[in-house]
Amino acid sequence: MHAENTARIQEPASTALHAGHCSASSACRPRLRISFSGGRTSALMTRLCVERMSATHDILITFANTGCEHEKTLDFVNQCDKHFGWNVVWLESVFNMTRGKGVVSRVVSYETASRNGEPFEGYIQKNGLPNTMNPRCTDRLKEMCMDHYTHKIHGWKRGSYQTVIGIRADEIDRVNPDYKEKGFMYPLADWGYRKDDVKAALMAWPFDLELESEAYGNCTWCWKKSHRKLLTVAKNHPEHFDFPARMEAKYGTHRLSNEPSPRVMFRKNRTALDILEEAKEGNFREYSDNDYIAPQLFTFDMDYSIGCGESCEIGSSFSSQNSQAHSSAGLNDAPCSKSTHG
Ligand code: SF4
Repeated sequence: MHAENTARIQEPASTALHAGHCSASSACRPRLRISFSGGRTSALMTRLCVERMSATHDILITFANTGCEHEKTLDFVNQCDKHFGWNVVWLESVFNMTRGKGVVSRVVSYETASRNGEPFEGYIQKNGLPNTMNPRCTDRLKEMCMDHYTHKIHGWKRGSYQTVIGIRADEIDRVNPDYKEKGFMYPLADWGYRKDDVKAALMAWPFDLELESEAYGNCTWCWKKSHRKLLTVAKNHPEHFDFPARMEAKYGTHRLSNEPSPRVMFRKNRTALDILEEAKEGNFREYSDNDYIAPQLFTFDMDYSIGCGESCEIGSSFSSQNSQAHSSAGLNDAPCSKSTHG
């Protein structure tokens, strides 16, 4: 790590890490639930938390699989788990189609984890297609799944632990404004880690996340990603759009609300097929991790993303309700129904 980075990065304030009722009890250690998203930032955060806190804290590490992650993301989660001995609990959401019945979790493994979007399809069957006006996929596929496991299976009561989330110091705008009440903590942000620090730290690891670029992180086709990233994925690996295209065809008119026209998933009322078509035409500059987009070159239509598309984190300011608020405030670019497609 660069010397200046080392100087800037802060050691954790231990008092900030003590959760709920356990801090005063000698029989009960503070508890941390780490939400490992499968990205580099999240991996480094998990490693640092385990190194710095496992002697004093009980730690639970979960990874919630949507079935739409890239195979190399799953490989990376598995490599981290095996190499560092984290004992990651792999989870998937299971949806009961009865109204009022919540999400439950099931424990899977690297070997048995869904690769064909089954958990995501369960979400869509129950809730309809996600889009800027219906942005609850992180909530249902990750947060509620982890909550069910933590409370009902692992036996930690709500409020007896803190949830650790991988958001860096340079992503501070993604911190959930209600983080204290929700028991969320963001140690990498607290410790001053920025993107370059994460990159530098992982260069010393014997393996890495082998995605072609960040465009392929999280759900490969995530509707929150920038249009440039989506076009890049669609041009080079159109197979990643098979799932959203199938979901739009199957569930576009299946919804709980009285929307007047088929629901679509992508911003500006684009369908998965629209994106594939535009990608085929090729009239765009592909996304690259190495590209710095100068502010004057940033175009809203191509480069705007909703934070979660960069890293699908529970407890980010762009997950669930906050994304809805973002949309309502006009920061997303259009309601997603095909009727206004131009
Ligand atoms: S926000 Fe994107 S990455 Fe997260 S669950 Fe939804 S589609 Fe997947």
